[in-house]
Amino acid sequence: MNSLHPRTRLIHGGCNRSGHFEMSEALYLTQGFAYSDAQTAEARFDGTDPGYVYARYGNPTVGMFEERLALLEEAEACFATASGMAAMNAAMFSQLQAGDHVVASRALFGSCHYILDSLLPRYGVTSTFVEGTNVSAWQDAVRPETKVFFLETPSNPTLEIIDIRAVAEVARSAGAVLVVDNVFATPCFQRPLELGADVVMYSATKHIDGQGRCLGGAVLGTEEFIRGRLLEYMKHTGAAMSPFNAWVMLKGLETLDLRCRAAADSAEKIAHAVEGHKALARTIHPALRSHPQHNLAAVQMERPGTIVSLELKGGKPAAFNFMNSLEVIRISNNLGDTKSIATHPATTTHQRLTECERRGLGISAGLIRLSVGLEHTGDLLRDVSRALDAA
Ligand SMILES: *Cc1c(COP(=O)(O)O)cnc(C)c1O
Repeated sequence: MNSLHPRTRLIHGGCNRSGHFEMSEALYLTQGFAYSDAQTAEARFDGTDPGYVYARYGNPTVGMFEERLALLEEAEACFATASGMAAMNAAMFSQLQAGDHVVASRALFGSCHYILDSLLPRYGVTSTFVEGTNVSAWQDAVRPETKVFFLETPSNPTLEIIDIRAVAEVARSAGAVLVVDNVFATPCFQRPLELGADVVMYSATKHIDGQGRCLGGAVLGTEEFIRGRLLEYMKHTGAAMSPFNAWVMLKGLETLDLRCRAAADSAEKIAHAVEGHKALARTIHPALRSHPQHNLAAVQMERPGTIVSLELKGGKPAAFNFMNSLEVIRISNNLGDTKSIATHPATTTHQRLTECERRGLGISAGLIRLSVGLEHTGDLLRDVSRALDAA
């Protein structure tokens, strides 16, 4: 499989056919498995027989999804989770204990920030948040007890690009594990493991399903980590992916590469077309020369992604006018969907933060996050232009 193009791997990878040789992957909607005799049951439980035991640990449909995603990522192993947050939670809790320290970039998905800033400290794990784009800030934050580095790039919603290779080097010299939240980049456009990261996590809810149907997540890394600490944690805490969701996600993977490329084409066209509009203070997309990490994005990412952020000059009233004038693009908070989505982070996804925290992250009252979908590019462009004129 590794000699095939990633798009081909996404279609045939991980296929585990039953005796009926079905074309489309089977949905094994089962929580458990019958053993041929008592000896086999014993062998499954002591690990000498590698077969399935219980859907909380693994399931054939979930296994196909895990193998297909691992093939795309060229990771040794993958574990699928009930949601992206279950993946982030497991990646952290499975390898941290009281007294440990985490260094993380400041601009994170809200719930990832909550786990590091509010939840882990209750169990004696502290975190330092740094300006992720400043490599020496990572170095300066390291302590003897630093165990994990965590970052998201491009960040949500301001699309800051962090140099994964440089931060991985700092992590390695500090003896820390680098975990990358690769949701915004997608596994098609950015390969953190190749750049030196140890663990990659996804919300499969976003581009991988890509059609707004199911929650899901995944953690990828070495066989030793995934089949060791992570599996142990997941087995006993229960946030496994359901076989039904895994089946939906498997079919999502088949079209992932095509969908991401088509959406990225439209995103780039929209960013170039609207930059400089009189209603906009700033257009944020890594393909634009005005993006502060434009050059880094060009070498680190195959494509700059499917999200465009727009900062309107008129603050919240202008942002709301813009959203309410959209006719094709829907107002919601998912991303990576076939349907284009506009989100006002300050009043929705990032409402929990203080005004001061939002300012620090560049989330102004005029900021809109646009997740570009698969509608015709011309229709999207007209929709955005009309809404900008109305704002
Ligand atoms: C959505 C998202 C998550 C959380 O995923 P869920 O599937 O919603 O639990 C984590 N990180 C990023 C960057 C996300 O966009």
